Amino acid sequence: MPRSNHCPHCHHDSLRRPPRAGVLLVALAWAFVVVMLFAAAQIGPFIMFVVPVIFAFGASAVRVAHDVAFAPPECERCGKVVLEEAPAPAVRGVAVPRLA
Ligand SMILES: [Zn+2]
Repeated sequence: MPRSNHCPHCHHDSLRRPPRAGVLLVALAWAFVVVMLFAAAQIGPFIMFVVPVIFAFGASAVRVAHDVAFAPPECERCGKVVLEEAPAPAVRGVAVPRLA
């Protein structure tokens, strides 16, 4: 289904959507966490001092990646968020056959 940029609130074509590569961004954030854990494992018993820092940075990175990747579309004109996608508006002037 094609994604339209039509805002149901102000009826302008100005919706800003999250990037299509958002899933890749989330995967990169998790890879960042894994690399940090692997690097921390190299320092031996001092890892217990580093793990809270890794948790804070990792949780922040994953959270931000999720917020960017899965954000609902937002209208650039009126600033409202579109939570549910409405079907694309009918094009005026197109003949619709009658059923009866
Ligand atoms: Zn709008």
